[in-house]
Amino acid sequence: MRRQNEWYCQKRRELVKQFGGRCRYCEIKEGSVRYSARKKDLVDIVLEFAHKANKRISGMNRGRNARVAEVIRNPGDFLLLCRRCHNRYDHDHPLTDEEIKAMNEEVPF
Ligand SMILES: [Zn+2]
Repeated sequence: MRRQNEWYCQKRRELVKQFGGRCRYCEIKEGSVRYSARKKDLVDIVLEFAHKANKRISGMNRGRNARVAEVIRNPGDFLLLCRRCHNRYDHDHPLTDEEIKAMNEEVPF
């Protein structure tokens, strides 16, 4: 279990770096803090990998290691987002194909 955890942490760090280390939408950096009106406190920013197509599938259901392995295999299928933008992306304002295409062209790999 501990070894798996180390693998996850290391791979996740590498991927966050590969994706630029910032939320694709609001550009907040991994490891920075933001004021949460809901929590009435500062929260640490931990970026997440949002799947562009399977929006309703949570990474939690399949385990985070499987999620990271999937990002490694198909980085173009994911966006690096903060939790706030991830929620927005998945539920409130689904992106159009054009917007996703534009992102694909902008994100360097
Ligand atoms: Zn964001």
